[in-house]
Amino acid sequence: MALVVMKFGGSSVADIGRIMNVASRVVESKKAGNNVVVVISALGNTTDALVQLAYQITDHPPAREMDMLLSTGEQISVALLSMAVHAQGLEAISFTGSQVGIVTDSAHTKARIVDVKAGRILDELEKNRVVIVAGFQGVTLDDHITTLGRGGSDTTAVALAAALKADLCEIYTDVDGVYTADPRIVPEARKLDRISSEEMLEMAATGAKVLQVRSVEFGRNYGVVIHVRSSFSASEGTWINKDDSRMEKAIVSGVTHDTGEAKVTLIGVPDQPGIAARVFRRLAEGNINVDMIIQNVSENNVTDISFTVMKEDLESSNRIMKGIVDELGAKGLHTDEGIAKISLIGAGMRTHPGVAADMFSALAEEDVNIEMISTSSIKISCVIRAADLKKAVNAIHKKFGLEKGVVMHE
Ligand code: ASP
Ligand code: MG
Repeated sequence: MALVVMKFGGSSVADIGRIMNVASRVVESKKAGNNVVVVISALGNTTDALVQLAYQITDHPPAREMDMLLSTGEQISVALLSMAVHAQGLEAISFTGSQVGIVTDSAHTKARIVDVKAGRILDELEKNRVVIVAGFQGVTLDDHITTLGRGGSDTTAVALAAALKADLCEIYTDVDGVYTADPRIVPEARKLDRISSEEMLEMAATGAKVLQVRSVEFGRNYGVVIHVRSSFSASEGTWINKDDSRMEKAIVSGVTHDTGEAKVTLIGVPDQPGIAARVFRRLAEGNINVDMIIQNVSENNVTDISFTVMKEDLESSNRIMKGIVDELGAKGLHTDEGIAKISLIGAGMRTHPGVAADMFSALAEEDVNIEMISTSSIKISCVIRAADLKKAVNAIHKKFGLEKGVVMHE
């Protein structure tokens, strides 16, 4: 008997009709002979609505209370889904994250799972029940409710699949898989049949919205096979981490984009040892994640340092940077929210020269200026003007012939 974790997102349980539809899919899987654990998100936009309620009271809601509030969304949806499964004739039981022992650290609103106690779930499966677990939430060792960051139900599902040693983790969503680019921007984008977890990690980290980054990390670390598919159709979606010789051969698998970052430039800082350490240490202490960094050549021993941060961190970054400007006697600070980051991902670029050159040519042919570049062994990212985003993504997608599917080595 296979053990399957099925995860459904908020749009898949947006109203009672859809909850009944999810229940049917769950019942179908159970009747096909699987042991079924279901993870779901809050109904529709419930989490957004709860966030708004909090911000009507204060601009700085205490993080612990925020978690207390946000975790209620999923408590509603699991109870309703359990009733729906009952109504369709099978036994089901719903649990909160804390009831099934999803233990996290105490970083409220962005907690990390540190342990999953699978015993209670296994007991219920033993009784032939469908087990329905609230996504996105956990509990600290000293019994405070936590949440895992927006989109965190994906991570609950993959973490449960890992802990239960499930045969498969199915992520049901409102799109039918992972695409070579965002189909809303690139109409010719194609669904990928398979992708390695390494590539998926880069895709999620550079703007593909379909899975929370941490869920992909978990999947990679524990070798969980993930199938991303539509909750509205029976068609195959995208398989992640299913071993396949094709994955070795794909040069390029997709183009992603992100308009959520801003560029910060420190102008005229002294070019001497210890400066970068000081700047980025200070940002780290402020809990600000920095993505791309470039430093220019110096003239007369002064240089400029640019980096990108998430737009929501810009205000805190500015506060820190103003202090640094004074301390270092720098000439000034410049911020720019009109940027977009565009990334090309492919495991085969590691061994295939010329991919970066082709990407830059695609941008040049469209007269798109590149402001920053960063690379990893399987990714090339460029910062460009946000206004150029659409033509840039389309040009790169076309350059690599992604409308015909992924590009293979000969
Ligand atoms: N309900 C949470 C959110 O909206 C978690 C999730 O959907 O995965 O972010
Ligand atoms: Mg989601």
